[in-house]
Amino acid sequence: MSVAVRFAPSPTGLLHVGNVRLALVNWLFARKAGGNFLLRLDDTDEERSKPEYAEGIERDLTWLGLTWDRFARESDRYGRYDEVAAALKASGRLYPCYETPEELNLKRASLVSQGRPPIYDRAALRLTDADRARLESEGRKPHWRFKLEHKPVEWTDLVRGPVHFEGSALSDPVLIREDGRPLYTLTSVVDDADLAITHVIRGEDHVANTAVQIQIFEAVGGAVPVFAHLPLLTDATGQGLSKRLGSLSVASLREEEGIEPMAVASLLAKLGTSDAIEPRLTLDELVAEFDIAKVSRATPKFDPEELLRLNARILHLLPFERVSGELAALGLDDADAAFWEAVRPNLSRVAEARDWWAVTHAPVAPATDDPAFLAEAAALLPEEPWDLSTWGTWTGAVKAKTGRKGKDLFLPLRRALTGRDHGPELKNLLPLIGRTRAQKRLAGETA
Ligand code: GLU
Repeated sequence: MSVAVRFAPSPTGLLHVGNVRLALVNWLFARKAGGNFLLRLDDTDEERSKPEYAEGIERDLTWLGLTWDRFARESDRYGRYDEVAAALKASGRLYPCYETPEELNLKRASLVSQGRPPIYDRAALRLTDADRARLESEGRKPHWRFKLEHKPVEWTDLVRGPVHFEGSALSDPVLIREDGRPLYTLTSVVDDADLAITHVIRGEDHVANTAVQIQIFEAVGGAVPVFAHLPLLTDATGQGLSKRLGSLSVASLREEEGIEPMAVASLLAKLGTSDAIEPRLTLDELVAEFDIAKVSRATPKFDPEELLRLNARILHLLPFERVSGELAALGLDDADAAFWEAVRPNLSRVAEARDWWAVTHAPVAPATDDPAFLAEAAALLPEEPWDLSTWGTWTGAVKAKTGRKGKDLFLPLRRALTGRDHGPELKNLLPLIGRTRAQKRLAGETA
């Protein structure tokens, strides 16, 4: 059977780097295996799901290049969940329970105070028809629990290795709410079964769900997929990431931090694996290097500084065609490959190109602390056309004439030509500045 994986976010917030790492790992796994990648919106939590978050998820994945082969939305599939729930009720695997949340809290608190695990006591299974009729006549509506089999549940996890749970140590999960709506624990299994998902790759916060869901797969007659549970990413201090944590959202990395998608992908594909983190310019390279066996069980930390350093290394390699759109969006419509290649070694973010565009294409107040020397240098400026050899020819002549060398030669020229002490190589900048501006700047004029 061909490999099929899914990324199943709930559209209840912005995707953060931890969520999107799971999307990426699923996507790489599918591409590596020549399989397919499903984007499924787990949107049955109607109070918290929002269309703008669903759009945000699609925008973030598209920005990263994580295209999906199939798309599904749980809210389109209520009819199917009702059908499965009816069958599970008929076979006695779903049973009605009438406890209120307060009553359940009391039961839990009492078990915990006795030092016992807070497992549901199945009191509802002991209700008679008459009890149920009385409860319903009091206006109570049932929620429905799945009756787990008290037997071992085992699987070989692609990240965690052999995993073992005792069915008797798990609480029967609620699959249908009091208002009749199905919950994630059920809908996810029905979808994974119906959509023939072969591998479920998700966060380790779902390990206990998996134990329960394996029994649900068996009960609904679905093939049990292979599971892989990845340790969740934490922030640099070791704190968990939350969907409502705006600063590490993919949207803010893109829109506020100016990070390149391949920087995010290069980092997230390798964080928490045995591979070194290196700049990669295409997802294909990451596919070639991907192997889920390289994912470690240790908790990976996400460090924004590391991302920014990687972003810089990627920019230093990116060809002009890959950034021309971003440069145009910054208002640098006339920027060309020569400009990009001149400035990219000095950038951590594409937006910083604006500063160097101002140096080459807008008036600069030069720093001229040695006017006599600069006048001599100006007199030696070659005629145009200028190219990448002009700087060498010119400074060679200035050196011969003035006897200066090294910093004494170059720094005053840099300060006059750019108004700054540091920056991209002048060999590259000089032809962009042009002779007219260069001459005026050397003469101390703002030009
Ligand atoms: N919507 C669930 C989540 O975001 C999906 C978990 C799963 O992959 O099954 O945690």
